[in-house]
Amino acid sequence: MVPMEGSGGINEILERKKGRIGALNIRVDKTVPAGIAVQRRICNENCMFVKELGIACHEDNSYRGPGTAISNQEILQMVIKIHESAPMPINIHIAGDGEPTLFEEELVNLTESLRKLDFIRMIKITTNGTRLSHGAQPLAKRLKTAGIDEINVSVHSLDPMGFKEVTGIDALHVVIEGIEAAIVAGIKTSVNCLVREETFKELKSYIELSARFGIRVKFFGFLDESGRNQEYADGLLQRMRDTLMQMADAHAEYTKPYGGVLFQIENAIIDLKDLRINNCPVMDCKARDICLEGCRYHARLSPTGILQPCGVRTDNLIDMKNAKVSNKEILEKLIDGGKILESEVKWVRV
Ligand code: SF4
Repeated sequence: MVPMEGSGGINEILERKKGRIGALNIRVDKTVPAGIAVQRRICNENCMFVKELGIACHEDNSYRGPGTAISNQEILQMVIKIHESAPMPINIHIAGDGEPTLFEEELVNLTESLRKLDFIRMIKITTNGTRLSHGAQPLAKRLKTAGIDEINVSVHSLDPMGFKEVTGIDALHVVIEGIEAAIVAGIKTSVNCLVREETFKELKSYIELSARFGIRVKFFGFLDESGRNQEYADGLLQRMRDTLMQMADAHAEYTKPYGGVLFQIENAIIDLKDLRINNCPVMDCKARDICLEGCRYHARLSPTGILQPCGVRTDNLIDMKNAKVSNKEILEKLIDGGKILESEVKWVRV
């Protein structure tokens, strides 16, 4: 198996992070098939991370909007209009409040269409990994052919029983097969894991997974929407940071595109995303205290065609289905949501 990451160590990953700066990052929520009413999350897992505290798969704070899901063609037209408004490279992250690989044909078709746009720099998917090895021609291979560059696979436990407890399904082996299928297909692959108390007991397994497959393991902290458990979640993240610091052969902190620390432990690479570091340029934002790490990075396109320049605010939504929305309005709201810097758009306005 060819190592996809890590051969160049943490410096290689730091270089790649620099490549994400200077582009507009859009997260496309393609988790509801076109024409279907957008209601509850559609997923084949039902994650409960900390039963005692009731910390479950969160609603992600994204605004979804009322109505039915837009088609791939509409998504494409909206992405083109966003680019007309802010003519800069665009990175697409297909993810959302649900599982995007459950509707394979639409996902492959959307990827193919986006790939044909010359301003698209990178296309990435976040998935639970249960469908990647699915099919006579594995879905991972089809996605690679369609134009996917990167895949994040969420794996919140590497113990089969622990995995079942978190997700509600006995599928760890299938997810590992999915990771292998993505690597064999030649897709840059990484694993996402939310830090829980149990993660400390499984830390060795995550380090081994990273070294074995040559992939990066990304640890995230919880963002507790109720606010009641945030101290607990931040404490876990800090403890994980301290633990990794003691184990690491080398480490590097980074602040852009958002904050974290990369740790090299022998041949493994662990990336601790630190949502406590908010580097969004909108310093007077009233939602700063409840801002998610992902909000700072991506503007979001909902399944109903609403563009949300950051993930928690709803005071600057743009209904992209409305033909009267001007390019100027889109650009100004993207700046107001911290997704484009004034300095980056000066040349756009000339
Ligand atoms: S503008 Fe958005 S991304 Fe920036 S601090 Fe406010 S909520 Fe966070």
